[in-house]
Amino acid sequence: MEENRRLVAGFSDAQQLKFQILASGISIAESAYDALALRNGDRPLTPADFASTSGIILALEDEVWVNAPIEAHNANFVGVTPFTLEFGDGGFVVEGEGLRSLASFWTPPLYHGTTDSDGTELNKYVFTHGDRVRLAPIQGCSMTCKFCNLPYEFRYATKSIQAMVNAVEVALADSLQPARHMLISGGTPKVADIDYLKEVYRVMLASFPDLEVDIMMAPVEGLLDLAELRDLGVNQLSINLEIHNGEIAKSLMRQKYNQGIDHYLGFIETAVAVLGPGSVRSMLMVGSEPEEETLAGVRRILDVGGIPVLSPFRPDPATPLRDQEPPSAASLMKVYSRSQGLAASAGVTLGPDCPPCSHNTLTLFDPEVENYRYAQPITV
Ligand code: SF4
Repeated sequence: MEENRRLVAGFSDAQQLKFQILASGISIAESAYDALALRNGDRPLTPADFASTSGIILALEDEVWVNAPIEAHNANFVGVTPFTLEFGDGGFVVEGEGLRSLASFWTPPLYHGTTDSDGTELNKYVFTHGDRVRLAPIQGCSMTCKFCNLPYEFRYATKSIQAMVNAVEVALADSLQPARHMLISGGTPKVADIDYLKEVYRVMLASFPDLEVDIMMAPVEGLLDLAELRDLGVNQLSINLEIHNGEIAKSLMRQKYNQGIDHYLGFIETAVAVLGPGSVRSMLMVGSEPEEETLAGVRRILDVGGIPVLSPFRPDPATPLRDQEPPSAASLMKVYSRSQGLAASAGVTLGPDCPPCSHNTLTLFDPEVENYRYAQPITV
């Protein structure tokens, strides 16, 4: 408790709650369930398509967004938690451990859980989180990172490009929660499918020229043609180190380890040279290795001109790491504060730069300035 008090200096209640909820999850009180049922009907509460997006998305005070783990998807670590979502006279409230914040619930778009004209679930292709639609051209993954649910839950396959274009159009046109920008992300293709994925990038960037499109991908040989992507108008790349420590990387993400951290850092440096400053992010997973290792990773990303993004490790029930504990709130706050200091010294801020997209990352925003690039998502 003593340590906690020292660490919380400078964080508002809502900001502290973000770290606490990411570490412990949240329980939904009866009053909140009833209120959610009135507002969301019997539709799914979460946009759960990935280990770190399994919770409900809440907007707290001070422009804090958090993807709050709930027992329904993370019974492996959300059991008895002191943090609750309640509903009272003034609306939703998050409380616990003496902290309190008004909250609003991000409503999933209408297309979630529905099918396209072929009867295929649209969520096979796209999911919206906050204000961004995530497109996944590869089902499963050619790599097997032990913290990621994709290779354990889904058999590897590629998807129809035309069906994906149609699905993105649906997500952008959703009458309740239209997506404002796009992320094309994992899994990683097999060598035989590199040309397929390059074509996906070309088609998506050409089909939606007015949309900001980011690509998150491992730097696989021959896949990311930086000059071509720049000319096609890609917005940002995310080239994720995930883990800095070599031994831990070798044990948890063998294929990425084999590519080599120097290859990742070199690729980030080259990508910054081609796409420009601020255009290349790299994520580190906090809690998967000692804090000093994550901080060393932050320094190395900054050294090559990248924007570090901190993502708290969330043990996914489908993975071999299901029984590991998430990092504590105190650890998350410490790593966040020190990383933010390192970033500030380099003249940048931790990514992402979009408040709703920070729901599953350690990112805070100054509520006194305008942070939103797009219309704010619908919350209730
Ligand atoms: S490369 Fe990415 S998508 Fe594939 S298993 Fe690793 S983290 Fe998951």
